[in-house]
Amino acid sequence: EEKKISSVNGNFDIDLDASHVLHNSLVSIPLTVASASGSYVTFSNGHRVLDACTGAAVAIIGHGDPDVQAAIQEQMTKVCYTHTVAFTTPVAEALANDILEGNPHGLCRAFFVSSGSEAMDTALKLARQFYVEIGQPQRRSLVARQRAYHGNTVGALSVSSHVARRAPFKDALILTNVSYVSATYAYRGQLEEETEEDYSARLVKELNEEFQAVGPTTVMAFVAEPVGGATAGCITAPRGYYQGVRQLCDKYGILLILDEVMCGSGRTGTYFAFEQEGPGVYPDLITLGKGLGGGYAPMGAVLAHKKVIRGLQSGTSYFVHSHTYQAHALSCAAALAVQKVLRRDGLVARCATKGRWLEKALNSTIGECKYVGNIRGKGLFWGIEFVKDRATKEPFEPALRFTWRMVDETFRRGLSIYPGAGTADGIRGDHVLIAPPYNASDEEFEEMIRLLSEAYGTVEREVELALVAGKSNDR
Ligand code: PMP
Repeated sequence: EEKKISSVNGNFDIDLDASHVLHNSLVSIPLTVASASGSYVTFSNGHRVLDACTGAAVAIIGHGDPDVQAAIQEQMTKVCYTHTVAFTTPVAEALANDILEGNPHGLCRAFFVSSGSEAMDTALKLARQFYVEIGQPQRRSLVARQRAYHGNTVGALSVSSHVARRAPFKDALILTNVSYVSATYAYRGQLEEETEEDYSARLVKELNEEFQAVGPTTVMAFVAEPVGGATAGCITAPRGYYQGVRQLCDKYGILLILDEVMCGSGRTGTYFAFEQEGPGVYPDLITLGKGLGGGYAPMGAVLAHKKVIRGLQSGTSYFVHSHTYQAHALSCAAALAVQKVLRRDGLVARCATKGRWLEKALNSTIGECKYVGNIRGKGLFWGIEFVKDRATKEPFEPALRFTWRMVDETFRRGLSIYPGAGTADGIRGDHVLIAPPYNASDEEFEEMIRLLSEAYGTVEREVELALVAGKSNDR
């Protein structure tokens, strides 16, 4: 008898009241994870999946790494908790040094928190307090981008354009001093007659117009993900875009906040994704999360440029923001151990080489398939957008649930991928994300492609039948 397995709907066989955990689903209980090792996750019903989304681009060195376990255990024998607003620990200092020592982009300080959302809120607070301290308190506005996701806390959600996640809160808990410009979404945004450079210039022009409309001396920061992840499906920027953005921000004294919670920590083939955007590109503040702790501990960080730190120091002796668990010693130990594994095994470079392999493999297996509209990404961070019609790029109607069918079918076959917000977000367009561990073996990469293309074949046939049935129902 086939086991009932669904990643999307969870387990409906269990009495809901049997769990006192408030799960996100209010109508079912999710499957229980029993263990995870290397690139595989095993559920309590025995089902095992190859982890090609690593949660959401989190387990960058896979699960159960012995060196990370040893580092956490060793730290436990020294100190787990101390009040890190008042005190510091050797392990927090070592982690900050590890990430920032000799940083060629002017980044000089790290503020460690427990999640990507906290990192984003911290970055917004740093930006605001910076302007207060340097005597420009009129800078209150933020400019962000469509199809962006920066987190679920109030500040982070306010600069996100994730329609579904904002919906219940938009009239009550969302900041109103935020406006949006277009995402770098070439598949649907670049005009046919436009070169990459033209497209880039048009996007920068739009940002300039937005700064003018808001009033450039009242804007605090422009916020962007170098590779747009969860809501956008791995959209990269056209050549020259970030150079243009940097120049505009410099011209008007606006801070550039880059969110590398999902695309950073090496995933694109360089430690920071922005490092591939050309000379002169650097952030004033940059956030990391997910991969920073590799899933071994809750971890996020804001890295600040020296000009932000100097500005703050010119007006105050105190950054007015803290969390009980900031720079937690166990999280710092885990993150430091992850950085060492990355370096020891050359894993950032592997993201680049394996990324090129993955790009070719995705394109040669499903690239020409009927419902595959666009395959895009960088390093080990890929998005696949599905469309009803490749010629017109017409998206599927939500009722067909293309993304969810893909996630279910891959999961059933033993592969875990990430459902992009797609149609669930109220923005048209289905997509899934693939973000494997950097150290997945060559055989595991082959297996990912095999399972993905087989699952796609099944979903293609199902959807074809559904479309035919739909047409005959229309008559
Ligand atoms: N920024 C980006 C780009 C993200 O993808 C996410 C999470 N998906 C966040 C911020 C928020 O991180 P967290 O869920 O750890 O709060």
